[in-house]
Amino acid sequence: MTTRPTAALGPAELAAAGERMHARLVELFPIPRSITGNGVRSTLARLAQEIPLAVHEVPTGEPALDWTVPREWNLREAWLRGPGGEEILHSRDSSLHVLGYSVPVDRKLTLDELQAHLHSLPDRPDWIPYRTSYYREDWGLCLPHRQRAALQPGDYQVRIDSTLQPGRLTYGELFLPGQSRDEILLSCHICHPSLANDNLSGVTVATELARRLAETPRRLGLRLLFIPGTIGSLVWLARNESATGRIAGGLVMANLGDAGGFHYKKSRRGDAAIDRAVPVAIAGLGESVEIEDFAPFGYDERQYCSPGFDLPVGSLTRTPWGRYPEYHSSADDCDFVRPTQLAGSLAAYIEVVQILDGNARYRNLSPKGEPQLGRRGLYKPVGGGEAGRRELALLWVLNLSDGDHDLLAIAERSGLPFAAVREAADALIEAELLAPI
Ligand code: ZN
Repeated sequence: MTTRPTAALGPAELAAAGERMHARLVELFPIPRSITGNGVRSTLARLAQEIPLAVHEVPTGEPALDWTVPREWNLREAWLRGPGGEEILHSRDSSLHVLGYSVPVDRKLTLDELQAHLHSLPDRPDWIPYRTSYYREDWGLCLPHRQRAALQPGDYQVRIDSTLQPGRLTYGELFLPGQSRDEILLSCHICHPSLANDNLSGVTVATELARRLAETPRRLGLRLLFIPGTIGSLVWLARNESATGRIAGGLVMANLGDAGGFHYKKSRRGDAAIDRAVPVAIAGLGESVEIEDFAPFGYDERQYCSPGFDLPVGSLTRTPWGRYPEYHSSADDCDFVRPTQLAGSLAAYIEVVQILDGNARYRNLSPKGEPQLGRRGLYKPVGGGEAGRRELALLWVLNLSDGDHDLLAIAERSGLPFAAVREAADALIEAELLAPI
């Protein structure tokens, strides 16, 4: 019997991948990213050392559905000095200190005037919040509340040396072709500066996944997008509208390294193959997953699942955005993300991709009574254990291959791992008991 190639990793390989993903995350962490600018470029350049990423540059002003590509923002440095000339904060210490998309500033102002531009978290006084103002011109500084509360009256000097000018929006795309013209879409956002779980975890797992799956033959093509949140998916959809019909299923990748268990947000359709594949994949790994219906907020699934596209795209995460206190703050750092959790997320994504890739519908060619398996070398006289499970899978596949059930449905109903069902189908095809529909 021919064995189907698998991309699943053994425990030692998975542990090594976890360390590699975390090391990549640590390396990317300090880069000052935003929805446009050189931080995104250098992030993509770093990823392109490992995977054959195509980098797209889209000019400011290009329409993207109901939106327009914004001006490009770059920050050289920013600092705040107190009444005595002392340095209070400097952008070299954290890319979170500057409100994203701050316009340039170089002025003296009183503490009262300054307060209107400061952002802090009173209930988390040691953390720096992450704030942006992409679509309204503003400037601001973010700092720990403890430090803000200690500021004395007097004259402050603020300098934000930034540029906000016509330029380009940059995104990365990787396509691994399959035998079929249909494809799987995986999308992650790369617009956050020094934040680890949201979303360098998604970026590093996507990169590792691409490295791994590039080596495995596949039926479905695999497309990975590394894009700035919201505007990046809008741009991609606008530019690739005619190709969206090929998307057989997809996931938005984010928050994949915190200590939490898996969480799946369904596609807008709710019953797409991806919505059935994720629970089967996670159960097959012996883990549990919390499942939530689609809602029109969150990450880029908002765009993929807008009614004019209605793509079968869900989002598989660990703890969802906004539901952990470290979210969008300096506490979402490299220590908050664990190598073992990244490794578990990678295993889950590989499993989901393999299920979508291996799913198909067949017809039992000998449906009247059970066909005699022993005669065809499919029945092992000594049962129990692995052999018992293998036989059970053969019987389930034969019984439910009536044209109405795909292999995913057979895995769901039998409770068997998808790989066992797939393997049984391959054996039955070889024995000429099963034919594709
Ligand atoms: Zn975020």
